[in-house]
Amino acid sequence: MSFAAIYKNSIEQPQAFWDGEAKLIDWQQPYSHVLDYSKPPFTQWFVGGKTNLCHNAVDRWVATQGEKAALIAISTETGSEKVYSFTELQAEVSRTAAIMLALGVGKGDRVLIYMPMIAEAAFAMLACARIGAIHSVVFGGFAAHSLASRIEDAQPKLVVSADAGSRGGKAIPYKPLLDEAIALSAHKPGKVLLVNRNLAPMNLVDGRDVDYATLRAQHIDAQVPITWLESNEPSYILYTSGTTGKPKGVQRDVGGYAVALASSMQHIFCGNPGETYFATSDIGWVVGHSYIVYGPLIAGMATIMYEGLPTSPDAGIWWSIVEKYKVTRMFSAPTAVRVLRKQPPEFMQKYDLTSLKALYLAGEPLDETTSGWISDALKVPIIDNYWQTETGWPILSIAKGYEDMPTRLGSPGIPTPGFNVKLFDETTGEECGSNEKGVVMIEGPLPPGCMQTVYGDDARYVSTYWTVLNGKHLYSTFDWGIRDADGYYFILGRTDDVINVAGHRLGTREIEESISSHANVSEVAVVGVEDKLKGQVAVAFVILKNPDTANGVQARQALEKEIMGVVDHQLGAVARPSRVYFIAQLPKTRSGKLLRRSIQAICEGRDPGDMSSIEDPASLNQIKGALVS
Ligand code: ATP
Ligand code: MG
Repeated sequence: MSFAAIYKNSIEQPQAFWDGEAKLIDWQQPYSHVLDYSKPPFTQWFVGGKTNLCHNAVDRWVATQGEKAALIAISTETGSEKVYSFTELQAEVSRTAAIMLALGVGKGDRVLIYMPMIAEAAFAMLACARIGAIHSVVFGGFAAHSLASRIEDAQPKLVVSADAGSRGGKAIPYKPLLDEAIALSAHKPGKVLLVNRNLAPMNLVDGRDVDYATLRAQHIDAQVPITWLESNEPSYILYTSGTTGKPKGVQRDVGGYAVALASSMQHIFCGNPGETYFATSDIGWVVGHSYIVYGPLIAGMATIMYEGLPTSPDAGIWWSIVEKYKVTRMFSAPTAVRVLRKQPPEFMQKYDLTSLKALYLAGEPLDETTSGWISDALKVPIIDNYWQTETGWPILSIAKGYEDMPTRLGSPGIPTPGFNVKLFDETTGEECGSNEKGVVMIEGPLPPGCMQTVYGDDARYVSTYWTVLNGKHLYSTFDWGIRDADGYYFILGRTDDVINVAGHRLGTREIEESISSHANVSEVAVVGVEDKLKGQVAVAFVILKNPDTANGVQARQALEKEIMGVVDHQLGAVARPSRVYFIAQLPKTRSGKLLRRSIQAICEGRDPGDMSSIEDPASLNQIKGALVS
């Protein structure tokens, strides 16, 4: 069947379509019906069915490929490398589950996981899934304040953490941050389970803090049975990155998520049991949940958990991992590829990468320069995919497992099965045709795997994401996009990044794309800045490939004019940035997302807001410095 026919079927006959996909996982008890959409926008998938994420990720594979690699934990920070087979992973998860049970954690209780990229973090996630506890992983790079707000929101009974993470060979103590966060939070977790890596000293709080190694030894022979869960019971809460404001606690189910992951692993990521998958993200992000921990394991693949920089000990580290473990599918982000692009290509050429079949990139727009460079270097298809914490798996991509359709530069692709993607004009409320800009919306019911609700706040879920138009429930992605005549989508930026210049609505992303086409531009951020006359004007911050070309006022002005000229030519004078500043670094979140809000705030002389997710606070000074130069 053609992809078009499969897609059509998934939208017109969602029940039949997902009933078929549900066979990709094990059910302890069959569901009574595939979909309950009687209370839109809420969806219930596989109602009455009982299953378990840990069973599908681990136990299910023990019988048929127990000795095969399941989890490969590599740290270039501590120089450790350990391969856990499915049998060994099951034993470790059982031990951690036994510890949790002994600490009083049961079904429905929240467990907050604040950990570096170490095997124990995956054990903890899978252990929660095993006993029906709800995990909430908080990115290890977050500081006390962000952590405190998540503790307060999720109200965990237990926190699992470690003495420290490590970055660039430097220990980053976690425990003092955790203690501070607990002090700040109105909610106090009863117990804190700590993995001691001997990287930083720890002060243990009597009666609250317990040592993982000691308890593991006590539960070494534990065999904790699977707690079967109704498909719609919650599996985890994950807070969004917070690029655009207060993070939302995205709550996910069990059965729908397992089916969506199994389906996407087969048709989008094309992974097979026994192969190795390598996602370079972090367990604190949605990619880490879906495609480091659960997805590959549910597909019977070995998954790599990597702690360390992409450039240490040298820029060949990822490729050496690909060679050593014969990675077939790799998942990363454009920001990481840009880091590698700055390094000599020899690091990649040194290794035998013939096992690799494709590289998937997501999280932010993939520009032509980055995608062209990596595709030339790797000689495998580079597959962009567009999605959100909320959806749990790709909304747009090229699902080559169904049909070998071509990718199109600058486009993350076409809607994947189950996502009824539409574009709507924000002002008129009309559906857009080809080549018309609009807000990317998804008509309900959302497919399996998407968020069920905002944790503890159904009303916020409905009011934040949903609109009813002509009796249809529409989910907003808050992204702006355009679809070409062949159905390929292009993401133009977030809706609150759309700027209004003298009545013209422009996506900052469009202007960035245009500026990027200048041969000397390496990276660019465009923001809308308040202007008395025009309402807003676009302002650009550019990182040059050759920064020396902007030395001296004259050279700088000439280059600024040249870049403005590119925009004039491609988009028209309305889109021309009022200023182009040259800087060395852009403020980004630790997951590589541009902090446009903060840049905009600085440009308008406002406070940049909560900066806890920022990669490097010094980058804000670059913006400030540029403005006064
Ligand atoms: P918050 O919702 O709290 O502001 P966030 O949106 O940054 O945080 P995520 O859910 O991690 O948190 O990011 C999803 C967003 O990332 C998408 O809505 C989109 O703006 C952007 N994005 C993801 N993948 C792509 C892609 N392939 N191309 C373009 N943009 C992408
Ligand atoms: Mg978002």
